Amino acid sequence: MLDPERFITPRARAIDASGIRRVFDLAATLEDPINLSIGQPDFDVPESVKEAAIRAIQDGFNRYTVTQGAAPLRDKVARSIAAQFPGWGEVPSADKAPFGTLITSGVSGALVLAMLVCVGPGDEVIIPDPYFVMYKHLVTLAGAKPVYVDTYPDFQLTAERIEPYITPRTRMVLFNSPSNPTGVVASDAVCRSVAEICRERNILLLSDEIYDEFWYDREGVASRCPSPASYSSDMLLLRGFSKTYGMTGWRLGYATGPRRIIEEMTKLQQYSFVCAPSMVQLAGVAALNEDVSAHVGDYRRKRDLVIERLAGTFELTPPGGAFYAFPKVPPALGLTATQFVERAVAASVLVIPGSVFSRSDTHFRLSYACDDRTLERGLDTLIGLARI
Ligand code: PMP
Repeated sequence: MLDPERFITPRARAIDASGIRRVFDLAATLEDPINLSIGQPDFDVPESVKEAAIRAIQDGFNRYTVTQGAAPLRDKVARSIAAQFPGWGEVPSADKAPFGTLITSGVSGALVLAMLVCVGPGDEVIIPDPYFVMYKHLVTLAGAKPVYVDTYPDFQLTAERIEPYITPRTRMVLFNSPSNPTGVVASDAVCRSVAEICRERNILLLSDEIYDEFWYDREGVASRCPSPASYSSDMLLLRGFSKTYGMTGWRLGYATGPRRIIEEMTKLQQYSFVCAPSMVQLAGVAALNEDVSAHVGDYRRKRDLVIERLAGTFELTPPGGAFYAFPKVPPALGLTATQFVERAVAASVLVIPGSVFSRSDTHFRLSYACDDRTLERGLDTLIGLARI
């Protein structure tokens, strides 16, 4: 009989998903959990986007697209990047732009391709701690070494914090604002300093901006979330549709940046993902015409509620974006975050311990992408547990 264990590589074994699985295993035993652990919006895909996908399917747009992405979407993406970042140059079309554009299967797809193209054995990749769970594993899968920069307690990945970790082997810095899991947003000054240090030290900056629309402290509706792309075009900029339009299951994102790197990512996509789902790409064009400000306003209100309710009980760096907060377990309880989360789950509230996103186990992530009643019940329970 075949021994399946013999076929599982050290590369696959090195991925440890136990932390998050433990929370979900515990959750499976609960009847009606108060779920503050979800990393996706609680609103549905806009009607116009659904209709565009249905129309695309009915019109027979069901085959492979070109690897780099269907022209209408790719052109629209390239133009929107150039409009937001004038330093990136004039864009008559994606093909004639001074930078490359690749439509991917979610930001996850773009991250996988970027890692496989740009880093390998002997290379180091600087990532913030706490980090989005995939970063550490994708860096390792690519054969490189993650180098963690501790960003507690304000969760800002600044140039000053990055500098001491730069070595001749540093290839890439992963930057993520608004951040998962902390919800913290980098200021313009931080974005500028990170873009500058990467340029000066010849390091590729990868900015994961999947939460760019979920930014709450804006002045005026037209203002945009601070981004290092305002200060450099020598970088990879990744954005997606999953969060902004509630399209997590549709698998659509994109990468823009230096043409040669995007060409290599396109080549790898050709021999792996092939292309992002065709009908979803056409729906993506409709999505980019949608105004999501009502959802953003709703999440801003929930964000304010979280800050207000947790104040005085939990230490919390105010989240300025995404839909997460990352409070600290009160030290007086004498509990690790994992132990605190076990208590929360026993009280039917699902949150995720910091150890899943960090080398520290002192904080926990809560998501407020849920209805108000669920959020209020969850916050009440967490506050009660912190006061025991
Ligand atoms: N980056 C961050 C920071 C995320 O939180 C997520 C989704 N949780 C992704 C990338 C991947 O998103 P997707 O593949 O759905 O575009």
